[in-house]
Amino acid sequence: MRVAVLRLGHRPERDKRITTHVGLVARAFGAEEMLLAGRDEKLVAGIEDVAERWGGDFRVKQVSSWRAETRRWKDDGGRIVHLTMYGTPLSKSIDEIRRSGDLMVVVGAEKVPPEIYEIADWNVGVGNQPHSEVAALAVFLDRLWEGEVLERGFRGKIEVVPSSRFKTVIERRGEDEG
Ligand code: SAM
Repeated sequence: MRVAVLRLGHRPERDKRITTHVGLVARAFGAEEMLLAGRDEKLVAGIEDVAERWGGDFRVKQVSSWRAETRRWKDDGGRIVHLTMYGTPLSKSIDEIRRSGDLMVVVGAEKVPPEIYEIADWNVGVGNQPHSEVAALAVFLDRLWEGEVLERGFRGKIEVVPSSRFKTVIERRGEDEG
């Protein structure tokens, strides 16, 4: 199953930090890419720098038309889930979503365009209280992978050695550096 996260409504002057966190959560919780509706070169460079050092194949694509991206995704047989506090309970649809094949997960910022409710195959609430796209995405992806995603290795240039007491990281050199 291929998972892409579509981040709508990013405002470069206000959402830098939270959109970065959406990207980092997407990567750490098993998505392959984040589609960013709009442009923010610095933000993309920041996330790609993390991916480059910490491993995996995560990428960020800036898209000028998110509608075209959702159409293409559906034409290729993928399904779309929109995370919203107004949606139906996660527990009701997560099993069906897990079986559905490639998945685009849509999260918004302040307000999402109303048509996303029509475009989505599921409008899902991670609870029905207002909280955050970062929290909603993390909980959703963790449930999608049934918790296993946190056990995945990334094999990066930097890796944490888990410890109950110390802060230990190993740094791998590039192969041609000897
Ligand atoms: N009124 C918005 C809504 O439709 O959920 C809340 C805006 S919130 C600041 C930004 C994003 O966080 C939303 O677009 C949605 O993707 C996500 N979000 C917030 N609370 C959520 C919840 N309880 N369940 C699912 N997603 C949520």
